[in-house]
Amino acid sequence: MNAIQLLTTKKRPSGWWQCQAERCGLLHHSQDAAECCCRCSVCGQPIERGKFRHPECQKQIDVQALADRIQKAEKLTTWDSWVFWDGWGHKEGYFESLDDLKNHAEWKGLELPEWVFVTEQQPFNSASIDDIRDRIESDGYEDVWADCEGVSELEKAIETFNDLNAGLVSYTVDYKRVVSTRGVT
Ligand SMILES: [Zn+2]
Ligand SMILES: [Zn+2]
Repeated sequence: MNAIQLLTTKKRPSGWWQCQAERCGLLHHSQDAAECCCRCSVCGQPIERGKFRHPECQKQIDVQALADRIQKAEKLTTWDSWVFWDGWGHKEGYFESLDDLKNHAEWKGLELPEWVFVTEQQPFNSASIDDIRDRIESDGYEDVWADCEGVSELEKAIETFNDLNAGLVSYTVDYKRVVSTRGVT
């Protein structure tokens, strides 16, 4: 037991529960909350006040979550674009190609995971006249947009801008698909 209920001066249950851990003594509204105070939410063993899980318990959860994610993901055998492996490299886990990631592992002496995540292309987030209109309408007087000149010229300029920048893409991790690092199996 990590908690006891405090009593009122008339020796009745107060509805307040106190954590019994050394150097804590925090009060909680329920027995459950007080029992969990100063206890790791994973292994149930004592933990420093204010901490939720032991770092090694958190790691266990992360490792399991990653394994589950990979298990559920669609398995690819080839991939010729960016890939992702969390915590690796100097581009926040992103690598231009599978070979790039393999070279990194070799260079750093890291154990190559069997599967790594692929990425999806994020098209250039086009400029839009609606955003501009919203800004003007929220700052201006009522129906200000109707009084604006040069709207069709602006529209044309935005269209040109979007066309010119249509080739700009970025890549974000696709947690639903993984590719084998061992080539075609
Ligand atoms: Zn406590
Ligand atoms: Zn723990």
